[in-house]
Amino acid sequence: MYQLAVIGAGPGGYEAAIRASQLGLSTALVERDALGGTCLNRGCIPTKALLHAAEVYQAAKEGEAFGVCAKELSLDEAVVFARKDAVVGNLRQGIAQLVKVNRIDLYEGTGCIEAPHRVRVGEAVIEAERILIATGSVPALPPIEGIELAATSDDLLGAKAIPQSLVIVGGGVIGVEFASLLTMLGRSVSVIEALDRLLPPLDREFGQSVSMNLKKAGAQVHTGARVTRICRAEAGLRIEFEAKGKPGACEAEAVLAAVGRRANTAGLFSEGFTVATERGRILVDERFETDVPGVYAIGDVAGGIQLAHAASAQGIACVEGIAGQKSGLRLDLIPSCVYTNPEIASVGLTADEAKAKGLEVKIGKVPMGANGRTQIAGGARGFVKVVVDAQTDVLLGAQMMCGRATDMIGEMNAAIANGLTRAQMLRAVRAHPTFEEAITEALEAVEGRAIHAAPVRH
Ligand code: NAD
Repeated sequence: MYQLAVIGAGPGGYEAAIRASQLGLSTALVERDALGGTCLNRGCIPTKALLHAAEVYQAAKEGEAFGVCAKELSLDEAVVFARKDAVVGNLRQGIAQLVKVNRIDLYEGTGCIEAPHRVRVGEAVIEAERILIATGSVPALPPIEGIELAATSDDLLGAKAIPQSLVIVGGGVIGVEFASLLTMLGRSVSVIEALDRLLPPLDREFGQSVSMNLKKAGAQVHTGARVTRICRAEAGLRIEFEAKGKPGACEAEAVLAAVGRRANTAGLFSEGFTVATERGRILVDERFETDVPGVYAIGDVAGGIQLAHAASAQGIACVEGIAGQKSGLRLDLIPSCVYTNPEIASVGLTADEAKAKGLEVKIGKVPMGANGRTQIAGGARGFVKVVVDAQTDVLLGAQMMCGRATDMIGEMNAAIANGLTRAQMLRAVRAHPTFEEAITEALEAVEGRAIHAAPVRH
């Protein structure tokens, strides 16, 4: 009997299995598809590989401004997709190696839980003291006439070419990342978002700025819009919608449905065994245990924030708990990163969220226009904003839209996780010329003391 059986080898499951093995638990890992899950095979990594190629292409296209002349610029999509596949393949091989050296038994097939301590994988039966479900999520499809004609992010990332024109239903993270990718390649894009702004769960300013940047790059953005029908048309597909009471329509080679993801529990439970769920997601307590003792669930399948690093952190914390350790991870502080151009990153509370909690806050914000590194890179509209507790000076949140935002957010998360004050953060001298200098400026701006900003007269 194993001490732990993990079902699903995405970032949540395989990292949990490795930590379990490090802590001395005999561990089985079950996966029916490729190691690395959605993130590695159909999500974060392939998307970012395509985005990287698009950035290189755009930089070459705009090269004249930097004295670079790329005559007859073209994009070989076969090479772009082959490179993406190579990156994914390398990382997948790395996981396989890690599974092996950590002496984790890998079972290939669908893991079906038959009883609290029994998982069937085809002909094999795994007995385990504990079971951890980490089966992730799959794209959700909205109930729209003709939705079967739409592609999901899985389909687009698994294809061998990027469409010449695309209508995107849903202006969330997947929607704006694909819109960013296609506009950088000079393709035609329309985004149709039901709510009143793009990236609705994030700070309002992100949605507004992304919308402006996308429009400037040639995309059409329809917010407050309800899709009524998708059908075949001359240009490929036609999508009809209603925006602010008025009917609208656009045509494109393809339609992408990016309206969220739902828990993946297909084939997971045998007849006669189940755990408590709510709208498809598995319900867990603070230790990630379901209503069946010894059966745990983490990541997208258990709802919450559907991000790879959230799943990994939950998996590690869950396994540390099982091994009798207290995890030090701050699971309430999960950074959000959106790989648009410029990048978006956010952690902790926004000013609106802090106020809703009854906290008195001070805000420091600087536009990136005065940042040398941003000017060098020819950067687009952006900003760094910090939210500080007005009473204690403790940093509560940070929102950034600028070059390297997705890397820089780590500094802010480390500060918030450790309860650092603005004054403590300002002890550090930040190097020049970097995007990071804007962090010092935003922290100083709380007291109206940013150097590269017009003085605030009191
Ligand atoms: P999402 O929840 O981020 O966005 C879906 C959007 O679709 C929402 O803005 C919603 O208002 C809108 N919508 C819903 N129904 C609609 C309809 N009928 N017509 C028009 N708009 C509609 O979901 P997503 O973009 O599909 O991403 C799925 C998950 O994957 C998210 O949890 C996301 O965080 C994660 N993800 C993260 C990253 C990243 O971290 N960089 C990248 C990709 C995906």
